[in-house]
Amino acid sequence: MGNNIFQLARPVNEHSMNFAEGCPERGALLAEVERQRASVVEIPAVIGGEEVFTGSVVEIREPHRRAHVIARAHLAGEAELRRAVDTACAAAQDWAEMPWEDRAAIFMKAADLLAGPYRFRVEAATMLGQSKNLWEAEIDVCELCDFLRFNAYFLQEIYRQQPGLTPGAVNRVEYRPLEGFVAALTPFNFTSIGGNLPCAGAVAGNVAVWKPSTAAALSNYYFLCVLREAGLPAGVINFVPSRGVDFSKYVITDPRLAGFHFTGSTEVFDAVWREVGSHIERYHTYPRLVGETGGKDFIFADGSASVGALVSGMLRAAFSYAGQKCSAASRAYIPASLWPDVRERLHEAMKDLYAGDILDPRAFCNAVIDRAAFERIKAYLDDAAASPDAEILEGGGADDAEGYFIQPTVILAKNPHYRSMVEEIFGPVLTVYVYEDEAQDEALRLCDTSTKYGLTGAVYARDRAAVLKISRALSQTAGNFYINEKPTGAVVGQQPFGGSRRSGTNDKAGSQTNLLRWVSQRAVKEVLVPDTEILLPHML
Ligand code: NAD
Repeated sequence: MGNNIFQLARPVNEHSMNFAEGCPERGALLAEVERQRASVVEIPAVIGGEEVFTGSVVEIREPHRRAHVIARAHLAGEAELRRAVDTACAAAQDWAEMPWEDRAAIFMKAADLLAGPYRFRVEAATMLGQSKNLWEAEIDVCELCDFLRFNAYFLQEIYRQQPGLTPGAVNRVEYRPLEGFVAALTPFNFTSIGGNLPCAGAVAGNVAVWKPSTAAALSNYYFLCVLREAGLPAGVINFVPSRGVDFSKYVITDPRLAGFHFTGSTEVFDAVWREVGSHIERYHTYPRLVGETGGKDFIFADGSASVGALVSGMLRAAFSYAGQKCSAASRAYIPASLWPDVRERLHEAMKDLYAGDILDPRAFCNAVIDRAAFERIKAYLDDAAASPDAEILEGGGADDAEGYFIQPTVILAKNPHYRSMVEEIFGPVLTVYVYEDEAQDEALRLCDTSTKYGLTGAVYARDRAAVLKISRALSQTAGNFYINEKPTGAVVGQQPFGGSRRSGTNDKAGSQTNLLRWVSQRAVKEVLVPDTEILLPHML
């Protein structure tokens, strides 16, 4: 048994390749995409290391080529979900007792496997299943490497925090895992989030039952294979593609639920919170509820803004990954003095922006995730075309003949409360409201109060006094706030990500704050020479 004080160095963010035309990595990734396209993968549930093919399957299709099936996910039902919880709980003690540096080493190894031999496999599956181009898949996988490495590092920073001295005694704080299991419920839009939510608790010694989004099940399953290859013991993370309602019914309500780690829509987080609340007395411990949810992310321009930077930020933040990043800009407040110039540049730039196949290098974005998303977004476009409160300035097209393509769209809202200005759409739709320069205070009030969310936002201004004023006025409007930079693209270890209000619990994925939610402290005081007196000094 070695005695040591183990120390992890602060990680460096995984370097993203740019896949420029002709570079060998581009060829290798595209070859992997073709390889994966040629077969249909059967995705099992994985419970206690055992692959379970239930026969109750959901087909996974390429959203941009919707006739083409790439995988079939076998859904866990009641029996498998209950077994996953039992299996996780059975694995809990051994996992909690493993020295933390060994747990950390497993996730560090997983990061290196993902960055190395498994990189293109997980990226190709992300491209095919979640309709991402090379770049979006690359930054997604790099972010997952970052989560794995920074989680281990930040956990070490937590473990280091120890209490002060008591003369004649030794004080220490133990950071136990939670007593029970963590349920991880993950969204379709980032492979990185899928992987991070079960792993964040696991590195701290917790066991997990992980339900991936069906749309992301292929990339998420390949990541699970990476964890197994890295030596994660069977039963620590149990992978259960399943119906949301079944997961709620058989996993969330289990008395051993100790934590819930979620990213997805506000509505689903609300539903789970209600489920937990309505059964609160049945749990052994109060479950920790951590959720990052919806957003209506904004760009607010001052009259002093650089129009070039502003237009670039608006387009990149609104249309990358077809507006399906939780941080995507979907509303912009532009002063009337800048609007003619902004309008003209938007028009020019958008001549070249379109949604197309993942292998079309000129397509700015690709398909939206599925038919439900397509119909939902199209309904907003139809409403804008018909409403006196709105005008479609650019785009507006929706075509599902081949795949679920919504063209990048800019809507002008004549009413600042028009629905596309205040509701989350989660598609490539940016709504602009033009305010009179002298009514900036009112525009700030609208930006702050007209949605229920508080996730990301950006100010564009050259005038420092304006930057200061707008930052202050919008201090509760975003958990990630950017100055002269688009509101997307947070990097682990650099801009901890998350929002409050109805955008979540703002526990900042990939940060110390998040990891603190997965430890339960035990304060221990040991007296060196115990007192034998009974009466207190003032009584003598
Ligand atoms: P979603 O809420 O529809 O699904 C998330 C997960 O919950 C999926 O696994 C889904 O199958 C499951 N689910 C759906 N209905 C359920 C139910 N009734 N009971 C239990 N589980 C259920 O979200 P999505 O469409 O996958 O992702 C898009 C949403 O996620 C957007 O609202 C977006 O803003 C949000 N998001 C937020 C962040 C953030 O950091 N704030 C990041 C990514 C995505």
